[in-house]
Amino acid sequence: MSRLVVVSNRVAPIKEGKVAAGGLAVGVYDALRESGGIWFGWNGETSSNPMLVCETQGNITYATIGLTKRDYDNYYRGFSNATLWPTFHYRVDLSRYLRKEYEGYRRVNAMLAEQLKPLLQPDDIIWVHDYHLIPFADELRQLGVRNRIGFFLHIPFPAPETLTSIPPHNELFRTLCAYDLLGFQTEVDRQAFEDYITREVRGVVSKNNTMTAYGHTFKAAAYPIGIMPDEIQELAASYKGRRHISGRGREGEPRKTIISVDRLDYSKGLVERFEAYEQLLDNYPEHHREVEFVQIAPTSRSDVKTYQRIRQQLETQAGHINGRYADLDWMPVHYLNKSHDRKILMGLFRTASIGLVTPLRDGMNLVAKEYVASQDPQNPGVLVLSRFAGAARELTSALIVNPYDRMGMAEALDRALRMPLAERKDRWENMMRVLRKQNLATWRDDFVRDLRGSAQRAAAKGWAVHAL
Ligand code: UDP
Repeated sequence: MSRLVVVSNRVAPIKEGKVAAGGLAVGVYDALRESGGIWFGWNGETSSNPMLVCETQGNITYATIGLTKRDYDNYYRGFSNATLWPTFHYRVDLSRYLRKEYEGYRRVNAMLAEQLKPLLQPDDIIWVHDYHLIPFADELRQLGVRNRIGFFLHIPFPAPETLTSIPPHNELFRTLCAYDLLGFQTEVDRQAFEDYITREVRGVVSKNNTMTAYGHTFKAAAYPIGIMPDEIQELAASYKGRRHISGRGREGEPRKTIISVDRLDYSKGLVERFEAYEQLLDNYPEHHREVEFVQIAPTSRSDVKTYQRIRQQLETQAGHINGRYADLDWMPVHYLNKSHDRKILMGLFRTASIGLVTPLRDGMNLVAKEYVASQDPQNPGVLVLSRFAGAARELTSALIVNPYDRMGMAEALDRALRMPLAERKDRWENMMRVLRKQNLATWRDDFVRDLRGSAQRAAAKGWAVHAL
């Protein structure tokens, strides 16, 4: 079996041969262990003289390199996170474009390709992850690399009208077409990409998701990323730590918990969610003292200005709601601005009556899936889920809400708080079925199989589709 080479912006931390247990890290790590190979990317640090460092453990080589401060500012903080991230999440209002940042983005992609090339063997297949690395295959091709290269986009792919607000969009998406296989989270994202290719570039779509544009023929398909639901179920059930965050309601029953867990990011709809919770307390006084809202929101990208602003906004909102409604023995909002271990999170999910996941836009949202998988089958909670999360395409038995509709969200929360056990079980069983069918292993295997398959087809036909 040919080796797999995984390229991602960050390489997951290596702890005694085990990676930190995030979705992507676990999925990719298992795939690498199966076929052996390389995990290549930025080591997360800045240095004045970055050097490639290779460390081999078992059949996996971790190859990482630092970035200069200038490259970090332009490639990572700049074009990746201040242009692409907001635009791909439909926040053109928060997006900025600086030519020097785009040049830095291209420069880092070229530098990374140069660093990787000497490590490659002719029959390796290369799997590149996410928006930081759109031009990566094109850079490898320019260096003469002929291996099969696939790309998976973890974030949404926006409608062409939004995308074209990025000034160098033509050049950028020309480089994307240098991949052999493009993977998207949902069919909606794949369709948006197809719309861009057919309308903006006059590309041609043929059978089996095959497209031709800029002289390249490639395949584009949806591969929804999943979780391992039964492992999460076990993890949640085995958690023996503190479960109830605060006290009891009017009748002495434990308070019902509404839980949300998100990186502190404007795409997650945190401000709108706090407003909806306040609306619930305004409209339904019968829930006072009976319910509490726990928002876990670890800080992310804290050196980007828009992220500092949202943090201040949420602190004000939490203070405002507690100021209006809290009592000596009831705190309506618990806002925890720090990250938590997965095991604790899954344990908290299991006892929370409602998982409230309401991003304004999200590629997939693994928290929604994890909340469902953590539930007690005999007494499952209710998932209230934004229609704009990729997960809403699969988890159709959740209570689906529009995060821009504050009143609608308050009504859904009220409905979830009152939902009878039989309906909760019914919805939960439907969602678990979906999670088991399309899990993390199927996501990884489907993508790698299609990438390998395209390699075999190309070899059999003697294709040279990469000639530029
Ligand atoms: N997560 C965690 N600790 C935290 C917050 C989040 O381990 O304090 C995990 C969470 O369980 C999930 C991932 O981080 O697996 C977040 O993935 P998601 O797709 O929901 O959002 P993203 O941060 O990738 O936009």
